[in-house]
Parts: sequence; structure tokens; C-alpha cells
Amino acid sequence: MEETAILLIYTGGTIGMIADEETGTLIPFDFDNINNHIPELKRFRYKLGFHCFDPLLDSSNMNVETWIELGQIIKSYYEDYDGFVIMHGSDTMAYTASALSFILENLNKPVVFTGSQLPLGVLRTDGRENLLTAIEIAAANDEDTPIVPEVCIYFENHLMRGNRTTKYNAENFNAFVSGNLPLLADVGVYIKYNKNIILRPSFTKLKVHVNFDTNVAILKLYPGINKQFVDSFFKTEGLKGVIIESFGSGNAPSEKWFIDILKNASKSGIIILNVTQCMTGAVEHGKYETSVKLDKAGVVSGGDITTESALAKMMYLLGSGHENDKIVRLLQKSLRGEISI
Ligand code: ASP
Repeated sequence: MEETAILLIYTGGTIGMIADEETGTLIPFDFDNINNHIPELKRFRYKLGFHCFDPLLDSSNMNVETWIELGQIIKSYYEDYDGFVIMHGSDTMAYTASALSFILENLNKPVVFTGSQLPLGVLRTDGRENLLTAIEIAAANDEDTPIVPEVCIYFENHLMRGNRTTKYNAENFNAFVSGNLPLLADVGVYIKYNKNIILRPSFTKLKVHVNFDTNVAILKLYPGINKQFVDSFFKTEGLKGVIIESFGSGNAPSEKWFIDILKNASKSGIIILNVTQCMTGAVEHGKYETSVKLDKAGVVSGGDITTESALAKMMYLLGSGHENDKIVRLLQKSLRGEISI
């Protein structure tokens, strides 16, 4: 049997930091010497390949170009490796993982994002366990079929679907939540895969989508939001898609000026998707009167999708060049398991 091969892609972020010997300040370690920093890597029976970003990026500096670069890297190494582990800053990991799930259609191999809250060079680091387990998950297979052939995030004992995940804690090792989908795997002494939820491999050829349209914006609602602000928001030049982060199960102010702005924007061709500010639960148009008006104004319900995933999906669909009608239909369908239907 051939040796399992896993590609480790290091993009930057806390996980790859060590303390400078003289000053003690945190600096990125030299990835060529990764085996010195994590000697346990040598104990894997897998062939490990390495790809390092240059320059390394704090994930706050990630953008659509970086998402596409990651897609291209996976495409070019796809036949040579059985799985991929992406070491990435935790701050925008949920956005990148969501975007990558749309970039990679017909994915047949695991793509596991991981990172850490404490750098690898710190004694109590969570990075070592996160990385070692992420590699184990990327390599896991059942009679030569990968167990988790999807884009996911592994962080502190939890394996989650990437496009269902949100960073919700800036300090705790348990930094991510998958509020609307159970874990893909729970990790303790055993890695317990939740096979009923994990997507099946597609067995067709990988398609890599590289056209994203960034004319998309997020409008978070808050009590006291005023007309002048909402008006100028929707007048943003080139705006094509808006994610509204609404209250509870999709509720918004029912004042006439607000509904009129949405109605006019949607008539002018701007696609508006409604997602909830809550970590768990879904938008349900029609449950309360305050969401009925949104429906009538042409706002589309995003169901239980996360904001991160909604943003990536809207950029992906607008970039694909479909007519608005088709985009609206696809927004309400599950393309990569990002929404419960
Ligand atoms: N600021 C860092 C980043 O997201 C934090 C982390 O790595 O967790 O790149």
C-alpha cells in the first residue's frame, strides 16, 4: 500500500510563532526547521510535504486573492497528496474556510484548517495538539476513502464544517463554535467521527472556482440605526450584494423609511440576504410581523447560514456570472452543506 501523503500549508498566524531568543518578542519561526519545533512530526508514518506563504500573513490581512491562492495551491498539489492541513490565523479562519468550500467543488479529499491561541514556541501552546490531530484527521481513511472529504476546521478537540463555523472567543482554546451543525468529530482518547453528517466524497473531478466579486457588504442592524446611514450604505458605488445581520429569527425595524430603502435597492438589482446575529438558530421570514415586511421588500432568507459563509457564498455566486434570479435560488440551496434545508 502506498504511503499516505499530507501537505501542510503554513499561511501565518499565532501558531507559527516562537519567542526571539534575545528580545523575547514573538516572531514567525523558520518553516524549513519545522521538525525542530515539532519533533513529533517525524513520528508520523505519513509522507509530509510543506508549503509556506511568503510573506506570512496575519489572518486579518487575508483577502479574496489569498483565498484564491489557497485554492490554486490545492489544485496544483491535488493529485500528489491525500489530504491538506492549512495552518492559518484564527481571526478570519472561518471566512477563509467558508470561501475555500465554495472554491473547491467536487472535493474528494480532506482540507483541514487549524491554528492556535498560543504560539507553538510557548510551553502551554494549544498549537501542537491542534496540528498533530489535524494531520491525523487529514490522513484518516476507511478502505482508501477519506473519512472527512470536506473543508473543515479543527480546534481544541472539535472538528467542524468550515462554512458552519464562527470564531466566538478571543482567549479560550475552544475558540470556535458551529452553532447550527453538530461536530464532524469529537476528539478525546478516540477521534469519534459523526459519519451521518460528514459530506460524502463526490468521486468526480475537482473544479476550482477563482472568480469572486467583492462588491458585497454586511449591514449589521442595531437599535437606533438611522436613515442617513442606511441610505448612504446602499448608495455605495458598484454594490451588488448585501448581507443584513438582523435580530433573532430574522427581524428588522418595520419603519417605512427602512423598508423603502430595501425595496428600492432590491428593485435596482442589489441582492439582499438576511442572516441572524445569533450564533444558533435561523432566519424564518413570516414568524414575526417584523420579518414579513422584509420578505415583501425582496429580501432573501439566509436560513441558518453564518455571516462568514453568507459573505463568501454571495461573492462566489456574483463572481460566477449567473443571472440574479439564479443567484437568489442558489442562495437558498445548500451547495457545500452551508445551510440546513
Ligand atoms: N491575529 C492572529 C491571526 O489571526 C491570531 C491567531 O492566529 O489566532 O492571524
